Amino acid sequence: MARIFNFSAGPSMLPEEVLLKAQQEMLDWQGSGMSVMEMSHRGKHFMAIAETMKNDLIELLAIPSNYKVLFLQGGATAQFALIPQNILNGKAKACYVNTGAWSTGAIKEAGKYCEVQIAASSEASKFTTIPEVSEWSVDRDAAYLHYTANETIHGVEFSDIPDVGDLPLVCDMSSNILSRPVDVSRYGIIYAGTQKNMGPSGVTVVIVREDLIGLAPKTVPSVFNYETQAKSDSMLNTPATYNWYLLGLVLQWLKQQGGVAAIEQRNIHKAGTLYQAIDNSSLYSNPVVKAYRSRMNVPFVLADAALDKEFLALAEKNGLGSLPGHRSVGGMRASIYNAMPEAGVDALIDFMAEFERNH
Ligand SMILES: *Cc1c(COP(=O)(O)O)cnc(C)c1O
Repeated sequence: MARIFNFSAGPSMLPEEVLLKAQQEMLDWQGSGMSVMEMSHRGKHFMAIAETMKNDLIELLAIPSNYKVLFLQGGATAQFALIPQNILNGKAKACYVNTGAWSTGAIKEAGKYCEVQIAASSEASKFTTIPEVSEWSVDRDAAYLHYTANETIHGVEFSDIPDVGDLPLVCDMSSNILSRPVDVSRYGIIYAGTQKNMGPSGVTVVIVREDLIGLAPKTVPSVFNYETQAKSDSMLNTPATYNWYLLGLVLQWLKQQGGVAAIEQRNIHKAGTLYQAIDNSSLYSNPVVKAYRSRMNVPFVLADAALDKEFLALAEKNGLGSLPGHRSVGGMRASIYNAMPEAGVDALIDFMAEFERNH
Protein backbone atom coordinates (compact mmCIF):
# COMPACT_ATOMS: atom_id res chain seq x y z
CA MET A 1 0.00 0.00 0.00
CA ALA A 2 1.34 3.41 -0.93
CA ARG A 3 -0.20 6.56 0.43
CA ILE A 4 0.05 9.64 -1.77
CA PHE A 5 0.62 13.22 -0.71
CA ASN A 6 -2.95 14.41 -0.99
CA PHE A 7 -3.39 18.13 -1.71
CA SER A 8 -7.19 17.97 -1.68
CA ALA A 9 -8.99 21.09 -0.44
CA GLY A 10 -11.48 19.05 1.53
CA PRO A 11 -12.21 16.44 2.58
CA SER A 12 -8.48 16.44 2.92
CA MET A 13 -5.47 14.55 4.17
CA LEU A 14 -5.56 13.31 7.77
CA PRO A 15 -2.49 12.60 9.92
CA GLU A 16 -1.40 9.01 9.38
CA GLU A 17 -1.13 8.53 13.16
CA VAL A 18 -4.84 9.34 13.44
CA LEU A 19 -5.84 6.84 10.78
CA LEU A 20 -3.69 4.14 12.36
CA LYS A 21 -5.13 4.80 15.81
CA ALA A 22 -8.67 4.63 14.41
CA GLN A 23 -7.73 1.36 12.70
CA GLN A 24 -6.32 -0.08 15.93
CA GLU A 25 -9.44 0.86 17.85
CA MET A 26 -11.89 -0.03 15.11
CA LEU A 27 -13.21 -3.30 16.53
CA ASP A 28 -12.73 -2.68 20.22
CA TRP A 29 -12.46 0.82 21.62
CA GLN A 30 -10.24 0.65 24.70
CA GLY A 31 -11.59 -2.63 26.05
CA SER A 32 -15.24 -1.68 25.62
CA GLY A 33 -15.75 -4.60 23.22
CA MET A 34 -17.37 -2.23 20.73
CA SER A 35 -16.46 -0.01 17.83
CA VAL A 36 -17.11 3.68 18.55
CA MET A 37 -19.64 3.46 15.70
CA GLU A 38 -21.69 0.98 17.69
CA MET A 39 -21.86 2.89 20.97
CA SER A 40 -24.85 4.66 22.40
CA HIS A 41 -24.17 8.39 22.29
CA ARG A 42 -25.44 8.57 25.87
CA GLY A 43 -23.37 5.69 27.19
CA LYS A 44 -20.35 6.23 29.43
CA HIS A 45 -17.78 5.34 26.75
CA PHE A 46 -18.99 7.82 24.21
CA MET A 47 -19.63 10.49 26.84
CA ALA A 48 -15.96 10.21 27.79
CA ILE A 49 -14.89 10.51 24.13
CA ALA A 50 -17.11 13.57 23.65
CA GLU A 51 -15.94 15.25 26.84
CA THR A 52 -12.26 14.80 26.03
CA MET A 53 -12.76 16.02 22.45
CA LYS A 54 -14.53 19.18 23.56
CA ASN A 55 -12.02 19.94 26.30
CA ASP A 56 -9.12 19.45 23.90
CA LEU A 57 -10.65 21.94 21.47
CA ILE A 58 -11.22 24.44 24.29
CA GLU A 59 -7.61 24.00 25.36
CA LEU A 60 -6.10 24.21 21.87
CA LEU A 61 -7.96 27.41 20.97
CA ALA A 62 -7.95 28.82 24.52
CA ILE A 63 -11.71 29.35 24.27
CA PRO A 64 -12.88 31.63 27.12
CA SER A 65 -15.54 30.36 29.54
CA ASN A 66 -18.23 32.75 28.26
CA TYR A 67 -18.40 30.79 24.99
CA LYS A 68 -20.28 27.62 24.17
CA VAL A 69 -18.82 25.11 21.75
CA LEU A 70 -21.38 23.30 19.62
CA PHE A 71 -20.87 20.33 17.30
CA LEU A 72 -23.62 20.41 14.69
CA GLN A 73 -24.43 18.99 11.27
CA GLY A 74 -25.16 20.61 7.92
CA GLY A 75 -21.65 21.93 7.34
CA ALA A 76 -20.58 25.54 7.14
CA THR A 77 -23.23 25.89 4.45
CA ALA A 78 -26.00 25.33 7.00
CA GLN A 79 -24.44 28.05 9.17
CA PHE A 80 -24.70 30.50 6.26
CA ALA A 81 -28.47 30.37 6.87
CA LEU A 82 -28.46 29.62 10.58
CA ILE A 83 -26.35 32.55 11.70
CA PRO A 84 -28.87 35.18 10.57
CA GLN A 85 -31.72 33.05 11.90
CA ASN A 86 -30.08 32.69 15.29
CA ILE A 87 -28.66 36.13 15.92
CA LEU A 88 -30.47 38.80 13.86
CA ASN A 89 -32.59 39.31 16.96
CA GLY A 90 -35.15 41.45 15.17
CA LYS A 91 -32.62 43.59 13.35
CA ALA A 92 -33.12 44.15 9.63
CA LYS A 93 -29.56 44.19 8.46
CA ALA A 94 -26.21 42.39 8.62
CA CYS A 95 -22.83 43.43 7.18
CA TYR A 96 -20.77 41.05 5.05
CA VAL A 97 -17.27 41.32 3.62
CA ASN A 98 -16.91 39.65 0.24
CA THR A 99 -13.43 38.23 -0.32
CA GLY A 100 -14.20 35.21 -2.50
CA ALA A 101 -16.44 32.31 -3.37
CA TRP A 102 -17.26 31.31 0.21
CA SER A 103 -18.11 34.83 1.33
CA THR A 104 -20.30 35.09 -1.75
CA GLY A 105 -22.10 31.91 -0.70
CA ALA A 106 -22.67 33.21 2.81
CA ILE A 107 -24.00 36.51 1.46
CA LYS A 108 -26.42 34.83 -0.88
CA GLU A 109 -27.89 32.70 1.87
CA ALA A 110 -28.11 35.54 4.42
CA GLY A 111 -30.01 37.59 1.84
CA LYS A 112 -32.98 35.28 2.38
CA TYR A 113 -33.30 36.46 5.97
CA CYS A 114 -32.18 40.08 6.07
CA GLU A 115 -30.84 43.01 4.16
CA VAL A 116 -27.15 42.42 3.47
CA GLN A 117 -24.84 45.38 3.43
CA ILE A 118 -21.60 44.62 1.63
CA ALA A 119 -19.10 46.36 3.91
CA ALA A 120 -16.28 45.70 1.44
CA SER A 121 -15.59 43.55 -1.60
CA SER A 122 -12.53 42.49 -3.54
CA GLU A 123 -14.59 41.13 -6.43
CA ALA A 124 -13.27 43.83 -8.79
CA SER A 125 -9.74 42.47 -8.27
CA LYS A 126 -11.00 38.91 -8.90
CA PHE A 127 -10.59 38.18 -5.21
CA THR A 128 -6.82 38.51 -5.14
CA THR A 129 -6.68 40.88 -2.17
CA ILE A 130 -8.49 41.97 0.99
CA PRO A 131 -9.88 45.51 1.22
CA GLU A 132 -8.28 47.70 3.93
CA VAL A 133 -10.37 47.47 7.10
CA SER A 134 -10.22 51.27 7.55
CA GLU A 135 -12.18 51.59 4.29
CA TRP A 136 -14.97 49.18 5.11
CA SER A 137 -18.44 50.69 5.39
CA VAL A 138 -19.75 49.18 8.57
CA ASP A 139 -23.28 49.97 9.73
CA ARG A 140 -23.40 50.22 13.54
CA ASP A 141 -27.09 49.21 13.46
CA ALA A 142 -26.38 45.91 11.75
CA ALA A 143 -26.82 42.76 13.82
CA TYR A 144 -23.27 41.55 13.10
CA LEU A 145 -20.42 41.60 10.61
CA HIS A 146 -19.46 38.41 8.79
CA TYR A 147 -16.19 37.59 7.07
CA THR A 148 -14.33 34.53 5.80
CA ALA A 149 -10.92 34.13 7.44
CA ASN A 150 -9.53 32.03 4.60
CA GLU A 151 -10.95 31.78 1.11
CA THR A 152 -10.32 28.15 0.26
CA ILE A 153 -10.86 28.56 -3.49
CA HIS A 154 -9.09 31.89 -4.10
CA GLY A 155 -6.25 31.33 -1.62
CA VAL A 156 -6.73 34.60 0.24
CA GLU A 157 -6.37 34.79 4.02
CA PHE A 158 -6.78 37.50 6.64
CA SER A 159 -3.54 37.99 8.56
CA ASP A 160 -5.24 39.91 11.40
CA ILE A 161 -8.63 40.04 13.06
CA PRO A 162 -10.54 43.05 11.71
CA ASP A 163 -11.60 45.62 14.31
CA VAL A 164 -15.30 46.39 13.93
CA GLY A 165 -15.91 47.93 17.35
CA ASP A 166 -18.88 46.59 19.29
CA LEU A 167 -20.50 44.81 16.37
CA PRO A 168 -20.48 41.04 16.92
CA LEU A 169 -17.83 39.63 14.61
CA VAL A 170 -18.85 36.39 12.88
CA CYS A 171 -16.20 34.37 11.11
CA ASP A 172 -16.19 31.40 8.76
CA MET A 173 -12.92 29.67 9.73
CA SER A 174 -13.65 26.43 7.89
CA SER A 175 -10.31 26.22 6.14
CA ASN A 176 -7.86 27.73 8.61
CA ILE A 177 -9.17 26.97 12.10
CA LEU A 178 -6.41 25.47 14.30
CA SER A 179 -3.72 26.51 11.80
CA ARG A 180 -2.68 29.54 13.89
CA PRO A 181 -3.48 30.92 17.33
CA VAL A 182 -6.56 33.12 17.42
CA ASP A 183 -7.96 35.44 20.07
CA VAL A 184 -11.43 33.92 20.38
CA SER A 185 -12.58 36.73 22.69
CA ARG A 186 -12.64 39.09 19.70
CA TYR A 187 -15.47 37.11 18.12
CA GLY A 188 -19.21 36.71 18.51
CA ILE A 189 -19.19 33.46 16.52
CA ILE A 190 -16.52 31.31 14.92
CA TYR A 191 -17.71 28.39 12.81
CA ALA A 192 -16.00 25.76 10.72
CA GLY A 193 -16.77 22.51 8.96
CA THR A 194 -14.38 19.80 10.10
CA GLN A 195 -13.27 18.40 6.74
CA LYS A 196 -10.53 20.92 5.94
CA ASN A 197 -8.31 21.06 8.98
CA MET A 198 -9.95 19.05 11.76
CA GLY A 199 -11.10 15.64 10.56
CA PRO A 200 -13.46 14.02 8.12
CA SER A 201 -16.65 15.80 7.01
CA GLY A 202 -19.84 15.56 9.02
CA VAL A 203 -19.35 17.92 11.94
CA THR A 204 -19.59 21.70 12.12
CA VAL A 205 -17.90 23.39 15.05
CA VAL A 206 -19.72 26.53 16.21
CA ILE A 207 -18.07 28.60 18.94
CA VAL A 208 -20.61 31.13 20.10
CA ARG A 209 -20.46 33.86 22.75
CA GLU A 210 -23.14 33.37 25.38
CA ASP A 211 -24.89 36.69 24.78
CA LEU A 212 -25.68 35.55 21.23
CA ILE A 213 -27.46 32.43 22.47
CA GLY A 214 -31.21 32.49 23.03
CA LEU A 215 -32.03 35.12 20.42
CA ALA A 216 -33.59 32.82 17.80
CA PRO A 217 -37.30 32.94 17.04
CA LYS A 218 -39.29 29.77 17.84
CA THR A 219 -39.57 28.89 14.16
CA VAL A 220 -35.87 27.95 13.98
CA PRO A 221 -35.66 24.13 14.13
CA SER A 222 -34.46 22.93 17.53
CA VAL A 223 -31.49 21.06 16.07
CA PHE A 224 -30.33 24.33 14.53
CA ASN A 225 -31.10 26.58 17.47
CA TYR A 226 -27.93 27.50 19.35
CA GLU A 227 -29.82 27.67 22.64
CA THR A 228 -31.38 24.21 22.54
CA GLN A 229 -28.14 22.68 21.28
CA ALA A 230 -26.08 24.46 23.95
CA LYS A 231 -28.47 23.24 26.67
CA SER A 232 -28.23 19.64 25.47
CA ASP A 233 -24.46 19.68 24.86
CA SER A 234 -25.03 19.22 21.11
CA MET A 235 -26.92 16.02 21.80
CA LEU A 236 -30.44 17.18 21.19
CA ASN A 237 -30.54 14.32 18.72
CA THR A 238 -28.01 11.63 17.80
CA PRO A 239 -24.77 13.34 16.83
CA ALA A 240 -22.31 12.13 14.17
CA THR A 241 -20.60 10.01 16.82
CA TYR A 242 -17.79 8.47 14.80
CA ASN A 243 -16.90 11.86 13.34
CA TRP A 244 -16.73 13.36 16.81
CA TYR A 245 -14.35 10.57 17.74
CA LEU A 246 -12.13 11.19 14.70
CA LEU A 247 -12.17 14.93 15.39
CA GLY A 248 -11.04 14.05 18.92
CA LEU A 249 -8.14 11.96 17.56
CA VAL A 250 -7.02 14.86 15.34
CA LEU A 251 -7.11 17.21 18.34
CA GLN A 252 -4.99 14.77 20.37
CA TRP A 253 -2.55 14.57 17.48
CA LEU A 254 -2.38 18.36 17.33
CA LYS A 255 -1.61 18.53 21.04
CA GLN A 256 1.22 16.03 20.50
CA GLN A 257 2.60 18.31 17.78
CA GLY A 258 2.91 21.07 20.36
CA GLY A 259 -0.45 22.73 19.79
CA VAL A 260 -1.57 25.56 17.57
CA ALA A 261 1.44 27.84 18.06
CA ALA A 262 3.82 25.05 17.07
CA ILE A 263 1.80 23.99 14.04
CA GLU A 264 1.63 27.64 12.94
CA GLN A 265 5.43 27.72 12.68
CA ARG A 266 5.32 24.63 10.47
CA ASN A 267 2.55 26.13 8.37
CA ILE A 268 4.48 29.38 7.90
CA HIS A 269 7.47 27.39 6.73
CA LYS A 270 5.53 25.08 4.41
CA ALA A 271 3.63 27.92 2.73
CA GLY A 272 6.73 30.14 2.61
CA THR A 273 8.83 27.60 0.73
CA LEU A 274 6.04 26.83 -1.74
CA TYR A 275 5.32 30.50 -2.52
CA GLN A 276 9.02 31.13 -2.88
CA ALA A 277 9.32 28.31 -5.40
CA ILE A 278 6.39 29.75 -7.35
CA ASP A 279 7.73 33.31 -7.25
CA ASN A 280 11.22 32.21 -8.32
CA SER A 281 9.99 30.36 -11.37
CA SER A 282 8.97 31.67 -14.76
CA LEU A 283 6.48 28.88 -15.36
CA TYR A 284 4.33 29.17 -12.22
CA SER A 285 2.54 32.16 -10.75
CA ASN A 286 0.13 33.04 -7.98
CA PRO A 287 -2.03 36.15 -8.41
CA VAL A 288 -2.73 36.98 -4.74
CA VAL A 289 -1.30 40.11 -3.09
CA LYS A 290 1.56 38.81 -0.94
CA ALA A 291 0.27 40.08 2.40
CA TYR A 292 -2.96 38.15 1.94
CA ARG A 293 -1.70 34.87 0.57
CA SER A 294 -3.22 31.87 2.27
CA ARG A 295 -1.02 29.52 4.26
CA MET A 296 -3.54 26.74 3.71
CA ASN A 297 -4.55 26.86 0.04
CA VAL A 298 -2.00 27.79 -2.58
CA PRO A 299 -3.51 28.29 -6.05
CA PHE A 300 -1.16 28.67 -8.98
CA VAL A 301 -1.30 28.71 -12.76
CA LEU A 302 1.16 27.68 -15.45
CA ALA A 303 2.35 30.32 -17.92
CA ASP A 304 0.99 28.05 -20.65
CA ALA A 305 -2.38 26.59 -19.64
CA ALA A 306 -2.01 24.01 -22.39
CA LEU A 307 0.47 22.25 -20.09
CA ASP A 308 -2.03 21.89 -17.22
CA LYS A 309 -3.18 18.44 -18.21
CA GLU A 310 0.33 17.06 -18.52
CA PHE A 311 1.37 18.70 -15.25
CA LEU A 312 -1.53 17.14 -13.38
CA ALA A 313 -1.11 13.70 -14.92
CA LEU A 314 2.61 13.61 -14.15
CA ALA A 315 2.04 14.89 -10.63
CA GLU A 316 -0.45 12.12 -10.05
CA LYS A 317 2.10 9.58 -11.31
CA ASN A 318 4.59 10.97 -8.81
CA GLY A 319 2.25 10.46 -5.88
CA LEU A 320 1.07 14.09 -5.69
CA GLY A 321 -2.71 13.96 -5.77
CA SER A 322 -5.73 16.26 -5.97
CA LEU A 323 -3.89 19.26 -7.42
CA PRO A 324 -6.48 20.56 -9.90
CA GLY A 325 -7.75 24.04 -8.99
CA HIS A 326 -11.41 24.56 -8.15
CA ARG A 327 -13.59 24.17 -11.22
CA SER A 328 -14.60 27.84 -10.97
CA VAL A 329 -11.03 29.17 -11.25
CA GLY A 330 -9.05 26.41 -13.01
CA GLY A 331 -5.27 26.06 -12.77
CA MET A 332 -3.82 24.24 -9.78
CA ARG A 333 -4.31 24.42 -6.05
CA ALA A 334 -2.18 22.83 -3.38
CA SER A 335 -4.01 22.62 -0.07
CA ILE A 336 -1.45 22.24 2.68
CA TYR A 337 -3.40 21.98 5.91
CA ASN A 338 -1.95 20.98 9.27
CA ALA A 339 -1.82 17.31 8.31
CA MET A 340 0.33 17.86 5.20
CA PRO A 341 3.89 17.00 6.23
CA GLU A 342 6.84 19.17 5.16
CA ALA A 343 8.00 16.21 3.06
CA GLY A 344 4.83 16.54 0.96
CA VAL A 345 5.46 20.21 0.23
CA ASP A 346 9.13 19.46 -0.55
CA ALA A 347 8.10 16.67 -2.94
CA LEU A 348 5.73 19.04 -4.73
CA ILE A 349 8.40 21.73 -5.04
CA ASP A 350 10.92 19.22 -6.42
CA PHE A 351 8.36 17.95 -8.90
CA MET A 352 7.47 21.48 -10.03
CA ALA A 353 11.15 22.34 -10.56
CA GLU A 354 11.74 19.23 -12.62
CA PHE A 355 8.62 19.84 -14.70
CA GLU A 356 9.81 23.39 -15.37
CA ARG A 357 13.28 22.18 -16.44
CA ASN A 358 11.65 19.80 -18.90
CA HIS A 359 9.43 22.47 -20.44
C1 LIG B 1 -15.53 24.14 2.47
C2 LIG B 1 -15.96 25.47 2.94
C3 LIG B 1 -17.32 25.77 3.19
C4 LIG B 1 -18.43 24.76 2.93
O1 LIG B 1 -18.39 23.74 3.84
P1 LIG B 1 -19.51 22.57 3.83
O2 LIG B 1 -19.09 21.75 4.99
O3 LIG B 1 -19.40 21.86 2.52
O4 LIG B 1 -20.82 23.21 4.02
C5 LIG B 1 -17.63 27.01 3.66
N1 LIG B 1 -16.68 27.94 3.89
C6 LIG B 1 -15.38 27.70 3.65
C7 LIG B 1 -14.38 28.76 3.92
C8 LIG B 1 -14.99 26.46 3.18
O5 LIG B 1 -13.68 26.21 2.96
